[in-house]
Amino acid sequence: MRSVIRLALPLLLVAALPLAAQEKVNSAAMDKIRNEGLYKSQVMDVVSYLTDVYGARLTGSPTTKAAGQWAAEWLTKNGAQNVKMESWGPFGRGWTNDRFSANVISPTRYSIIAYPGAWSVGTNGPVTGDVVMAPLDSESDMAKFKGTLRGKWVMMTPTQDLPANFNAFASRYTDGFLDSLAAPVPVSQGNPATLFSTANRVAAQMLALKRSQFLVNEGVAGVLQYGRGDEGTVFAASTGSRDPNASASVPTIIVASEHYGRMARTIAKGIPVKLEIDAKNTFYDQDLNSFNIIGELPGTDKKDEVVMLGAHFDSWQTGTGATDNAAGSAVMMEAMRILKASGLPMRRTVRIALWTGEEQGLLGSRAYVKEHFGDPATMQSTTQQSKVSAYFNVDNGTGAIRGIYQQGNAGVGPIFEQWMQPFADLGMHAKTMRNTTGTDHLSFDAVGIPGFQFIQDPIEYGTRTHHSNQDVYERVQANDMMKNAVIVAAFVYNAANRDELLPRKELPKPRPAAF
Ligand SMILES: [Zn+2]
Repeated sequence: MRSVIRLALPLLLVAALPLAAQEKVNSAAMDKIRNEGLYKSQVMDVVSYLTDVYGARLTGSPTTKAAGQWAAEWLTKNGAQNVKMESWGPFGRGWTNDRFSANVISPTRYSIIAYPGAWSVGTNGPVTGDVVMAPLDSESDMAKFKGTLRGKWVMMTPTQDLPANFNAFASRYTDGFLDSLAAPVPVSQGNPATLFSTANRVAAQMLALKRSQFLVNEGVAGVLQYGRGDEGTVFAASTGSRDPNASASVPTIIVASEHYGRMARTIAKGIPVKLEIDAKNTFYDQDLNSFNIIGELPGTDKKDEVVMLGAHFDSWQTGTGATDNAAGSAVMMEAMRILKASGLPMRRTVRIALWTGEEQGLLGSRAYVKEHFGDPATMQSTTQQSKVSAYFNVDNGTGAIRGIYQQGNAGVGPIFEQWMQPFADLGMHAKTMRNTTGTDHLSFDAVGIPGFQFIQDPIEYGTRTHHSNQDVYERVQANDMMKNAVIVAAFVYNAANRDELLPRKELPKPRPAAF
């Protein structure tokens, strides 16, 4: 596929020249959108409600539902119609951590930075036990430690040396780097390791099951996991199961690297460490389904055709899901508000979707696409599939939008080129044929609907906030957010009003085990 594109590119560019020239952009509308978004912005207020008032939005938890109801009301209040929380599932049980403390009580007293893994069982009140280092990487290791771990807090991995941070957590893409994205990427021949790693993965899963059962049988107090990160930042996600029929397990606590290191180095000297942890976790299995938040701005003469914009609403549990992904959700909600407040007519219906279940595998967006547009496993499409011009997604943190990934779609290049021009002063000018992965636009791309993610400056995302306890309001950059909402609103406006639907790639082949 890609080599064909490389050959055809010069031809396409020639063919695209008149197309680019033909792509009309309504500059008065662009100005209206810009003014509404830069001078009357509500985007940071939305972020604060989602993060400060509601907080972590793990799919299935009552907090996520309450935050979802608030977002639905906000959309209605700001002019969206047909707003609903559309159910999908089954997802599994919800989970919250309601109380947590972790304190070393001897040889000296100090509290530690730590978090229960999502879906971990709780401690049922404060539990005190000795900390031990017990690597359980094989059945022979289990045999060696059998009968010695009752009531203990078990560490299984050694500490790691933490290099000093010489690099900034945030950076702005240079124009040179952005231009380099335009270069075609070599087609990778597939990674031979994948075959091997599948067998490895199965073996690792089997060992993990045996180890989990061994820990239950031993009656340990719980497991202490080494938390990736430093300087108090802990990257943490799930350690338990959302399956209501999951087998028994022990509390699993993710500990900041510095505090894990202090305990490990102390016991390595033969000095006992006594640790008290109190983790009150609650599971919710009344309703195993989850929801997506949907709302619309009805179109006019082309109202049966749709332009979608969206972001995932769910987050992990240790921060407040600020940059991942209250930032994207707020940008999309604000874009809806801007379009409505601008009073600009839109020919196609504009539909927002805020997904849950993204962190567990794009579950909410996949369910929605399968329900409304088609099944990637069979490529059986509904009539609606042909009426969606595009889906625009934001899920790369708080950083300013600097461009867009065309996701292998050559036809949109010249069009996006024109759409970006009114925002060149905001730093928006890059486009690349490359794909970007790992988020909800893939659910649309998989059934042949153009799905796009934007190129964003890497602002403390991979380095600090992505799935960490530092993912909080303070890490969200207001100026970037306002620009992002303006650019998204403008792209959606242009897609809603151009004469034609956006060009499409070749329809994907059925993929039984898509994703
Ligand atoms: Zn995300």
